[in-house]
Amino acid sequence: MNKFDAGKWVRPNILSLIPYSSARDEFTGQDYIFLDANESPFNTGLNRYPDPYQLSLKTAIASLKGCTEKQLFLGNGSDEAIDLLIRCFCEPGKDRILSIAPSYGMYKVCADINGVEFDTVLLDPDFSLNTESLLGDVQPNTKLIFLCSPNNPTGNSLDKDSVKQILENFPGLVVIDEAYHDFAGDQGFLRLLDDYSNLVVLQTFSKAWGMAGVRLGMAMANPEIIYYLLKVKYPYNINQLSQDAVIEAIKRQDRVKEQIAIIKAERENVKSVLDKMTGIIEVFPSDANFILIRVPDARAIYRGLLDKGIVVRDRSSMPRCEGCIRITIGIKEENKAMTTALRAIIRSYNS
Ligand SMILES: *Cc1c(COP(=O)(O)O)cnc(C)c1O
Repeated sequence: MNKFDAGKWVRPNILSLIPYSSARDEFTGQDYIFLDANESPFNTGLNRYPDPYQLSLKTAIASLKGCTEKQLFLGNGSDEAIDLLIRCFCEPGKDRILSIAPSYGMYKVCADINGVEFDTVLLDPDFSLNTESLLGDVQPNTKLIFLCSPNNPTGNSLDKDSVKQILENFPGLVVIDEAYHDFAGDQGFLRLLDDYSNLVVLQTFSKAWGMAGVRLGMAMANPEIIYYLLKVKYPYNINQLSQDAVIEAIKRQDRVKEQIAIIKAERENVKSVLDKMTGIIEVFPSDANFILIRVPDARAIYRGLLDKGIVVRDRSSMPRCEGCIRITIGIKEENKAMTTALRAIIRSYNS
């Protein structure tokens, strides 16, 4: 396997960057008199800067994920990791990013903000990945490939062998966004980290962990890649409240496992109800906590649901998603209200 040499792929200005050195970089410890960081001496519980290295939190997450602390970057949401990967590895006005369509909108937004060209390859009509056409669209200055599995908004997981083929044939970084991995039955791509030095896996506490408000996402990759993300991040990018909240949540992870099981069961319930409903063109299988459906008039269905107080996501303007609506799985009562409303809307529509 070719070894990915992060130092050769990182932007020259990031390679030579001397990062900001905070007071807490130069000295850490407890039971001292801290007069080094211009903090307030009055104890509010939050008067001290948080640990810039997030050591306690990283220990907890590394053991949860079965990776090492050195393979782990923690971001203010996985959105921060997406942005930093682009900022570290893509030269504005020069380099390109390749991704799939339809997929998560932030990849392109971050590319646009950074002045990096963004190319996409259409998924097949069944939303599977065509490896040859993706690799065929790699250009000499393509530095990063973004994949998403299970994919948002389609809900399907990408085929593992296809992704391996991309990891083996593309010399740059391959980022796999696994925001919905907890809802899939399989192992995901984290276990491939030791085999592929150009692999970056993104996960988040925003979905299955029920902590979207905390803003904690992570990138896992070989330590040389992580090194550059850490070099560029704001020193205190994860605030104290978030660090504490996630450490507590990991201690109570059994509850999350129960909630994931409930969501997965509800997803299959909702799917079987929708499968039987007349007036729906297609219900796509899902490995995530949402279901994508195709209807004759997405705008009318979206409006109709909204009139009944139910908000879903109209995805019909995305490529390959003509007439498609994405519906998040809620609790049983919410899902029941949604299917009941949908049935009534379709019925009134057809009469
Ligand atoms: C929701 C979602 C995220 C989560 O982003 P955070 O910044 O961690 O909240 C990442 N990727 C995809 C594809 C998502 O749908």
